[in-house]
Amino acid sequence: MPELTDPSLAAAADAVLRTGTGLAQADVLRVLRLPDAEVPAALDIAHRVRMRWCGPAVEVEGIVSVKTGGCPEDCHFCAQSGLFASPVRAVWLDVPALVEAARQTAATGATEFCIVAAVRGPDEKLMAQVRAGVAAIRAAVDINVAASLGILTPAQTDELAALGVHRYNHNLETARSYFPAVVTTHTWEQRRDTLRLVRDAGLEVCCGGILGLGESLEQRAEFAAQLSEVDPHEVPLNFLNPRPGTPLGEQPVLAPRDALRAIAAFRLALPRTILRYAGGREITLGDLGTRDGLLGGVNAVIVGNYLTTLGRPAADDLALLAELSMPVTALSVTL
Ligand code: SF4
Repeated sequence: MPELTDPSLAAAADAVLRTGTGLAQADVLRVLRLPDAEVPAALDIAHRVRMRWCGPAVEVEGIVSVKTGGCPEDCHFCAQSGLFASPVRAVWLDVPALVEAARQTAATGATEFCIVAAVRGPDEKLMAQVRAGVAAIRAAVDINVAASLGILTPAQTDELAALGVHRYNHNLETARSYFPAVVTTHTWEQRRDTLRLVRDAGLEVCCGGILGLGESLEQRAEFAAQLSEVDPHEVPLNFLNPRPGTPLGEQPVLAPRDALRAIAAFRLALPRTILRYAGGREITLGDLGTRDGLLGGVNAVIVGNYLTTLGRPAADDLALLAELSMPVTALSVTL
C-alpha cells in the first residue's frame, strides 16, 4: 500500500480516518503540494476515508437546464453569461421537456435530478416554470428533485422547500480571496448568504466550485477550508473546461496530477460529504483519471451532459461503477 512519507502529514490523514474530522487548511495545502510520486498515497488514504465515512455507494445525478444562456452575471468561466461573445444563446425548456429529461435520468438508475437556470436569481417567470416543472416531475417520476437557480430571497427559498425540492445547489466557485478576480457582478458573501437561507429552510446544501481558474494552491486550500465551514451535504467539484469567448477561454486545463491531488485534498478536508465529479473531468482526467478519482475520494457523478459541454456516455460511467463494485444509491438517505 503506498504511504505518505512525511510522518506528520501521514498522522494528520490518519486522524481524519479515525475521527471523521477534516484536515486543517495548512495540511490541505501540504497535500496539494505533494510530489507526483506521492499522489497514489494521497488517493489511497482519501479512498479509505471515503469508504470509512461514506461507504462504497455512489450517488448518480442528471442535470437539465430550464433556462440556458443570456445570464446577466459575468462569471469569467461561464459560457452562459450574456456579457461575453460565447456561442450559447438564451433558450427556455417547457414542462413536458423537463419531465422527459427527468424520466430519462431516472432510467439510468440515477436518484437525483437537478433543474438549473442561468440567472442571477429567479424572477416570477422562472419561479412559475419551476413550480410547474417540479410538480409535474414529482407526479410522474420517482427521483429526488434538486434546483440551482442562483441567489434566492427568503420567500423563494421557503417556496422551493414547500414544493418538495430536497437539495439546492449554489456554488461558492472559488476561494473568497480569489472570487473578485473571477466574478464582479455579485459577491462571494451574497452567495454565502443564499447558502444560509437554504440551510435554514431545511433544504440540503450543495455547494462546490471550479478548480483551475488561475487560483494559487494556497487559494485552493483556502477554498477547501471555506467549504468545510459551510459543511455542505454535497460538494460538486468542477475542473475548468475553458470555453471560447469567455475571459478564461485561454486558461490552460489543469494537469491531471493536480486534479487528482485536489480530489484527495478535498476528500480529506470534507470526509463525510458527497463529493461529486461535475464538469470538466473528461478533458482534465480522461477515462483513466476518472477511475483514479473514484478510487481516491469521489463518491458521486453527474451522468450525461453538462450545461454547455458534453460528458461521457452514462453507460460508460455505470459500467465503471459496476466494475468497481460501487452500488448506485441516494446518499443523503444513508449518510
Ligand atoms: S455561473 Fe451562473 S451566475 Fe455566473 S454567468 Fe454562469 S449562469 Fe450566470
